[in-house]
Amino acid sequence: MIPILVTGGAGYIGSHTCKALAQAGYRPIALDNLVYGHEWAVRWGPLVIGDISDRACLDAVIERHRPEAVVHFAAYAYVGESVRDPGRYYRNNVAGTLTLLEAMRDHAIPHIVFSSTCATYGIPERTPITEDHPQRPINPYGASKLMVERILADFEQAHGLRWIALRYFNAAGADPEGEIGEDHDPETHLIPLALQAVAGRGPRLQVFGTDYPTPDGSCIRDYIHVADLARAHVEGLAHLRAGAVSGAFNLGTGQGSSVLEVIAAIERVTGRPVPYEIGPRRPGDPPVLYADADKARRLLGWVPRYRTLDEIIEHAWRWHQSR
Ligand code: UDP
Repeated sequence: MIPILVTGGAGYIGSHTCKALAQAGYRPIALDNLVYGHEWAVRWGPLVIGDISDRACLDAVIERHRPEAVVHFAAYAYVGESVRDPGRYYRNNVAGTLTLLEAMRDHAIPHIVFSSTCATYGIPERTPITEDHPQRPINPYGASKLMVERILADFEQAHGLRWIALRYFNAAGADPEGEIGEDHDPETHLIPLALQAVAGRGPRLQVFGTDYPTPDGSCIRDYIHVADLARAHVEGLAHLRAGAVSGAFNLGTGQGSSVLEVIAAIERVTGRPVPYEIGPRRPGDPPVLYADADKARRLLGWVPRYRTLDEIIEHAWRWHQSR
């Protein structure tokens, strides 16, 4: 089995990707500092507890496991926190990645699949968003991911590193077999917060604004199933191994759903009312974000299998209830 280093492999998307890699015949080596990741989520290969900023730790993991490629998730991903404490984001997400890339260069690891985000686009000029849309992030989190995309291109020029940057839209759902799922602390995402409210395990959901220029006034996002995201990393790796060119790819369904539509879907799937109230806008939320993911379909052969909100919510709800 081909070893692959998965930084952040104990996190939400990282752990689902470890499962997808194992199913495709790779051996995922999860490297995670467990600041936000969970030991229980690492089930398809070894867990090394350590930090991407720790060069000695990286050298030891690479020498021991000899990974052929890296799938790089390890990063902080709270937009609000990034505004309050940008240094923490640039240090971890940018400087930490630089340490990882230098280790890859020195150990001649040729390929990386990088976890990027639609937050690199900022407030879109047009939707659906294509990969050549201008990237003007509006918060340090998005800026940190964009900086890494630039560093990847520079490392390719200088050192021949080949890379895929996957720009996720709204990751959601849980493993369809119910083995792992989403568990953030603190939780800030719409679907898990709404499910917690339904289950009486959390406060009433706040809808952040219904005065946006959208049909029902609430924000529109492109929710993509985490298992589909996970599979895209495996397809990205195969693409690099086959000698294809580096590049960035949007990952979304191409379908936008409003916050009120998500609430309606949750009520349909769970058969229960979502306790919610309409609150003010959350600063920094663009009204509409959805992907044109045609490039991933054409070049990676990636198409989402779970195309409806109901499927995504069904899996998230099953996971939520099993906990
Ligand atoms: N949202 C909401 N209430 C919440 C959390 C989120 O109304 O408690 C909205 C948010 O304004 C956005 C959408 O739900 O329009 C998705 O937000 P989330 O934080 O899940 O992901 P983001 O789009 O910020 O990456």
